[in-house]
Amino acid sequence: MIHKKVVVIGSGFAGLSTATHLAAEGQDVLLLEKNSTLGGRARKFDAEGFVFDMGPSWYWMPDVFERYFEKFGKKVTDYYSLTRLDPSYAVFFGEGDVMDIPANLDEFRQALEALEPGAAKKLDLFLEQAAYKYQKGIHDLVHRPSLSLTEFLDFSLLKDLFRMDIFQSMSSHVRKFFSHEKIIRLMEFPVLFLGETAQNIPALYSLMNYADIALGTWYPMGGMHRIIEGMVQLAKEKGVEIRTEAEVKKINVHEGKAVSALLSNGEIVAFDVLVAGADYHHVDKHLLDPAWSNYSDTYWDSRTLAPSSLLFYLGVNKRLTNLRHHNLFFDEPLGPHAEAIYTNPAWPEKPLFYVSVPSQTDPSVAPEGMENLFILIPLAPDLDDPEQTREYYFDLVMDRLEKLTGQEIRSHIVYKKSYAHRDFKEDYHAFKGNAYGLANTLMQTAILKPSLKNKKLPNLFYTGQLTVPGPGVPPSLISGGVVAKEVIKSMKR
Ligand SMILES: Cc1cc2nc3c(=O)[nH]c(=O)nc-3n(C[C@H](O)[C@H](O)[C@H](O)COP(=O)(O)OP(=O)(O)OC[C@H]3O[C@@H](n4cnc5c(N)ncnc54)[C@H](O)[C@@H]3O)c2cc1C
Repeated sequence: MIHKKVVVIGSGFAGLSTATHLAAEGQDVLLLEKNSTLGGRARKFDAEGFVFDMGPSWYWMPDVFERYFEKFGKKVTDYYSLTRLDPSYAVFFGEGDVMDIPANLDEFRQALEALEPGAAKKLDLFLEQAAYKYQKGIHDLVHRPSLSLTEFLDFSLLKDLFRMDIFQSMSSHVRKFFSHEKIIRLMEFPVLFLGETAQNIPALYSLMNYADIALGTWYPMGGMHRIIEGMVQLAKEKGVEIRTEAEVKKINVHEGKAVSALLSNGEIVAFDVLVAGADYHHVDKHLLDPAWSNYSDTYWDSRTLAPSSLLFYLGVNKRLTNLRHHNLFFDEPLGPHAEAIYTNPAWPEKPLFYVSVPSQTDPSVAPEGMENLFILIPLAPDLDDPEQTREYYFDLVMDRLEKLTGQEIRSHIVYKKSYAHRDFKEDYHAFKGNAYGLANTLMQTAILKPSLKNKKLPNLFYTGQLTVPGPGVPPSLISGGVVAKEVIKSMKR
């Protein structure tokens, strides 16, 4: 049996961030990862000369990453190089109706003005408000551990309550500024990252539009996993010990404290403090005895999860035209698809989907003359995903993709792999096969999220996309920093 000061479970953004913060504070840290590769949902795999990022593909909020590395006296450029994408992305509204979203703000203003006279000026005001929310939200609010309401009772915040638009929905906020259907869809798109529709996401999150339009869409050359590689390198530089294929099967408790972790190989790792960066529900309901879990089954079942997804990783043996790095297929109405995700969970009839083609920017992710495609269809969590259903949706998406981009793709596929609910469960112990955690609805914000502390075991903490501040790469990175501070505080008590 070994003994470590701190054990962190999981090598996603949150686990790596926690471990690095704690090691930088002089703690002796061991990170345990069940899979054979690091990065959690942001892992990569190589197949037949293609390099596939398995999860995240949008690099937004570059300042959050910059600040992360700066904390440790480093820069992003010490680990990877970023390219700003221009256009940021393309939106397919229908056949022959495609809009490139320019990186340049003036060009974007003009594009909106062409759709709706006066929209450019309205955009300025919309963005001015969004910039304020971004500064306050990303530089302040998300760094609060949300353990008690009193954290939010400071005068400046109360004064700002209405300015932060917490009680208004994104949907009605956007409609106060714009009326053209395409502009509304563009402005509502970023909140889809938060796991709910614009009707159920507070307008606070127009900060995402600021991230999109003002701060831009970036790409780490080599792939998103370059961020993970950089973080792993930094973690090791700070002294974190990392073990893969080290699945925690049980957390042992003695005299009111978590004391050790039983690994799948029978080994026992003892610790003073445990931070769980694995899916919260898995830790709460499967690694702990019921007496020590934070929440009941009823609680978990009543949470609004962010969607799961059906993904396809494709290698294509020719270069494709009419596709950008990021492509949103909004050629069908969002309403019925959203209903199939949130209201009456079912496979959607006419899903919207997203296609990423990183080889449009980065030749290193596909063999020469070929293309690397990642297709994502958002789905309700907890659906059955048998092979024939996946294939049905593959054909459905391919039909539309080929028609809308005017080219044959299917017959040029030389590599294909699908990924959905049961893979999320198997690979990450994802509750109901969720892809990105809990939705950021008003009732699941700040102190209303699963707590980053275990209420009964003073030395057990949680981090990651199911606790504060929420889903997505930047929030998970921030979550690690927030929990590390709480761990250090608890050690000083
Ligand atoms: C398909 C997809 C697309 C996405 N796109 C974007 C995007 O474009 N931009 C963006 O910002 N965000 C995106 N996200 C969300 C983002 O990837 C996640 O919010 C973030 O990566 C979550 O990090 P995490 O550390 O909380 O969790 P994870 O990455 O899931 O890390 C948890 C780790 O714990 C490990 N683990 C679980 N159980 C155990 C155990 N018992 N013992 C040991 N280890 C265990 C898991 O293997 C995993 O490595 C996307 C997610 C998905 C799935």
